Amino acid sequence: MTSAADNDGAGQIDLHTHSTASDGTSTPQALVRAAAETGLRVVAITDHDTTGGWADAARARPAGLTLIRGAEISCRWYGIEPSIPLHLLGYLFDPEDPPLVAELARVRAARVVRGERIVDLLRADGVDISWDEVLGYAAGGTVGRPHIAQALIRAGLVGSTTEAFAPHWLGERYRLPKDDIDVFTAVRLVRDAGGVPVFAHPRATRRGRTVPDSLIVELAAAGLAGLEADHPDHSPDERAHVRRLAAELDLLVTGSSDFHGTHKTVRLGAYTTGPQMYERIVDAAYGVPPL
Ligand code: AMP
Ligand code: ZN
Ligand code: FE
Ligand code: FE
Repeated sequence: MTSAADNDGAGQIDLHTHSTASDGTSTPQALVRAAAETGLRVVAITDHDTTGGWADAARARPAGLTLIRGAEISCRWYGIEPSIPLHLLGYLFDPEDPPLVAELARVRAARVVRGERIVDLLRADGVDISWDEVLGYAAGGTVGRPHIAQALIRAGLVGSTTEAFAPHWLGERYRLPKDDIDVFTAVRLVRDAGGVPVFAHPRATRRGRTVPDSLIVELAAAGLAGLEADHPDHSPDERAHVRRLAAELDLLVTGSSDFHGTHKTVRLGAYTTGPQMYERIVDAAYGVPPL
């Protein structure tokens, strides 16, 4: 059984954060420094579909802070029509594993295609933003809708990233699917690269459709290691549901802030993972060590 106590305890462990290597606003260096200043004992850098922030985060890691290198992988469940996007956190995998490297590169390229199409749709409706401007905000990192949101803010059309994700904008009207990685493929790729796959915010109904529990049962059988229960986009009921499911399936449970800097209001360390759960992740990994 897991209990609330699994996510309490000594030492703060935040296993889901974004930097400027994707759609966060803190550089990887600033992220690890802020993590130490906030009093975290462990932080994971989990940018979307990239390991591009790992080296800078590792170099800037303050003594006393453990860095878990990871990524948040854009996946999709194709077992239902229309298919459902979902996010898989991969921890401590080998960043040079050729099949995984190839899939991450492919999905980053798919993000470019999708992002440019969204900008075309906006421009066709008279919105004065450009793809070059959006790429400028991404600054070489993985491009995502928050960078388009930045352009909408600059154009004076919305006041915040949250507003830019309203149904009238990027949340629905200008939301296009991207060519994500099949979730079963992603679980296998992360495991084969020595990493540990954890399903990010599996019940975040406020973000859109979520997958049924029956899929999580199948993913657990296919190598999924854990579920993220405590997350800003989960209601208390959703957190409890995820914990129950994890206990039934003997999956580990995590809690994390999903920090994105000023793109979101959540603080680093706002949600944390318990030490026992953290140890299970470290023990299951053989791709790269914690630093
Ligand atoms: P993308 O990866 O391009 O599909 O964009 C998804 C990202 O947009 C997420 O990782 C969040 O950073 C951000 N996002 C999604 N929904 C919202 C929201 N309602 N408010 C603010 N940011 C959001
Ligand atoms: Zn994001
Ligand atoms: Fe996510
Ligand atoms: Fe995230």
